Amino acid sequence: MKHFCPVCNGLAALANDCPRCGQLLSDAGKLYDFYGAYSPYREIDDAKLDNGYPDRQNHQCLHTGWCPQCQEEHTIIVQEWTPAMLAQPFM
Ligand SMILES: [Zn+2]
Ligand SMILES: [Zn+2]
Repeated sequence: MKHFCPVCNGLAALANDCPRCGQLLSDAGKLYDFYGAYSPYREIDDAKLDNGYPDRQNHQCLHTGWCPQCQEEHTIIVQEWTPAMLAQPFM
């Protein structure tokens, strides 16, 4: 079964709170796009290979959230979806 990340595919927004202050984290990917520094998605793909997270077999996608309050980045693990999940009336 094919898995895909709902955030990378624009189907869901990151909705994680900062573990430090509880503020809603911004999607740092969008932040980097805005500043045009580099593509964080490329870095996430590379990180999948050697960061020790078993995200490949767990079907998880690593994102980077930015807390505007703490001025700090946090890694957000997004559980990937399957096409079957989209077909279910779960909402
Ligand atoms: Zn993703
Ligand atoms: Zn914070």
